[in-house]
Amino acid sequence: MDVGWVVAAVGIGMDVVGWYQISGQPTEAQQLPYLASATIPGAALIVAGAVLIAARRRAEQGGSRGGIEGLAGAGSTQARSGRRDGLWALPDGSYLHRGDCPLLDGKPEAFEVSRDADGSAPSRACPICEPDLVSAA
Ligand SMILES: [Zn+2]
Repeated sequence: MDVGWVVAAVGIGMDVVGWYQISGQPTEAQQLPYLASATIPGAALIVAGAVLIAARRRAEQGGSRGGIEGLAGAGSTQARSGRRDGLWALPDGSYLHRGDCPLLDGKPEAFEVSRDADGSAPSRACPICEPDLVSAA
């Protein structure tokens, strides 16, 4: 299961418990401790879960294998093949990369993209290596 859903579910559970406890308190002063201890962190967890889910969705829309493109920490220690200059893309990716981008590590299928691309290449800059697309226009 997506960790984002788990985080959000925990948050929802905390809120349910929090509101249940609050409803049993006759005064606002007695409700506040429950509000602070359960409801607010619960809401924060729901937000955090939503952020995680959104991040996962964005990564999957990146289209790379297993949706890892766009996620940090993808840098492997595999040897690079000397790519340094120009813009690079993956056949199944939707980002343009610098030649030394960690997301290209161990990806011999990566190909160099002409800076005056004909439109068949992806046009979005990789969020990891942030290639300079200005000169590509
Ligand atoms: Zn990149």
